[in-house]
Amino acid sequence: MTEADTSPSRQENLAARPGIAAGHEFDLAIVGGGFSGLCTAWHLLTDVMLQPTFRCVIIEPDERLGAGLAYRTESPCHLLNVRARGMSITAADPGSFARWLARAAPQYSPDDFVPRRLYRRYLKDCFDRAVDQQPAGMMTVLRDAVRGLALLGDSPGYSLDLVSDVAVRARAVVLAIGNLPPGPTFDNGLLCSPWCRPFDFNRIGMLAIVGAGLTALDVILDAEAAGYRGQYKVISRHGLFPLPHREPFEPVPAEVRAWAADLAESRPTLRHALRAFQLKRKSGVHWELLVDSLRLFASRIWKNFDQADKRRFFRHLRTIWNIHLHRSCQHNIAVVARLKATGRLEQIHARVIAVEKRGSHCDTAVRLVLRRGTDFTLDADAAVDGTGLFTTIRRTGSALVAHLLDDGMVQPDDFYLGLKATETGQLLSADGSVRSDLFTVGTLRRGEELECTAVPEIRKQVAVMVQEILRLVGDARRDEP
Ligand SMILES: Cc1cc2nc3c(=O)[nH]c(=O)nc-3n(C[C@H](O)[C@H](O)[C@H](O)COP(=O)(O)OP(=O)(O)OC[C@H]3O[C@@H](n4cnc5c(N)ncnc54)[C@H](O)[C@@H]3O)c2cc1C
Repeated sequence: MTEADTSPSRQENLAARPGIAAGHEFDLAIVGGGFSGLCTAWHLLTDVMLQPTFRCVIIEPDERLGAGLAYRTESPCHLLNVRARGMSITAADPGSFARWLARAAPQYSPDDFVPRRLYRRYLKDCFDRAVDQQPAGMMTVLRDAVRGLALLGDSPGYSLDLVSDVAVRARAVVLAIGNLPPGPTFDNGLLCSPWCRPFDFNRIGMLAIVGAGLTALDVILDAEAAGYRGQYKVISRHGLFPLPHREPFEPVPAEVRAWAADLAESRPTLRHALRAFQLKRKSGVHWELLVDSLRLFASRIWKNFDQADKRRFFRHLRTIWNIHLHRSCQHNIAVVARLKATGRLEQIHARVIAVEKRGSHCDTAVRLVLRRGTDFTLDADAAVDGTGLFTTIRRTGSALVAHLLDDGMVQPDDFYLGLKATETGQLLSADGSVRSDLFTVGTLRRGEELECTAVPEIRKQVAVMVQEILRLVGDARRDEP
């Protein structure tokens, strides 16, 4: 285990606390130090209700806090897909990221889509400043991964089993493990990860990308920046790329926001919601403003749909909703349009059903078996998995999630997209009881809330969850003998 805490004094201070084994016992353990983990820590550290004796640990294997899957990239062409003005760490201070940019990278305006690596720096700065304003020893960072959790027998709380074999105890735990790698799929491990490229673009002439979402765009932009001049075959069932953000930026007008709030209040069925959308659209409001206003209330509307409507949405509308909501900047979409126009990029509407290794001058060469009506094959010098998030919680590459499900500590949501949780993020065990001290935030709640994978939604979840954590820890302190 690596102690990644920058200040030795923080560890010393922790060791000095009576009854606490140095570095191993905490009020709260946050598992994962991506955006969700850091956002949770920041909200706690800056809350006026926080007691100076509070002890928290973040456990994260990556040495760069705030990186996660989204912000670990160093590529200057990997941009945020939300404007800077929408990416503040807290909704209570929407100008925070824009002010940081004005100091650290003044060439950007709040309306810009800035490189994601800058956002990582911002998150780390926010975290460091919040830590520095609290007594030394309050926050510890362990560079490690959690592979299991067990209830403490003698007192409330959990023992966390770390890959380094160290056990950490915590009164409460937040799972902020985000975008988990998918478990073994049809591809036998032959599709390359979009985040670590095992091939040289100069040596290949045909690149296949499975998926046509924001991850696929990242791969294309990366390849173009690296000087790739070959062909792209982008394979997806719907053949739809994300739509571009409109320029210039126009905030959602108060009247449109009020329309979405009223719609959410009326607890619409899916059919009613679609009809209301179409009527409003016909009245002349641009679809982008309608989608952005619905986003503000998406979780409320979603929770009120019955199971049949939720299934209908997943079957028929999910891709359409995603490409309208999770848009990309115009520059990125223009790159794809240019590649299509010059014949270098072809979209194939099909499903990949198998991937086979192919003998060739490239180690990465594969044959993809595709299905659209009948089966056909596509040979590529390399193929990248650009499908994005894991599709079922039963098959992720996370040993921790598998362990929690097998032990009945948590239960999948109705669609197996994540886990069942309350509105404050408390997880439900297999028998349906609420685990009042085991929380989750972000992607693992998408079956329950629909939209919760991006910053604007996650920070809202965090603000609510943190109040519950403070109440829980406060109550525990009062109960201490
Ligand atoms: C490529 C990409 C680009 C994106 N761009 C944007 C954007 O521009 N704007 C936006 O709002 N959203 C964007 N998103 C959505 C993004 O998911 C969220 O913004 C945010 O990064 C989610 O953070 P997270 O901490 O929940 O998950 P992650 O970023 O996935 O972080 C989870 C962390 O948990 C750690 N972890 C996992 N398992 C364990 C374990 N067992 N023990 C310890 N640690 C563990 C991982 O190492 C990781 O660091 C993007 C997503 C991706 C994938």
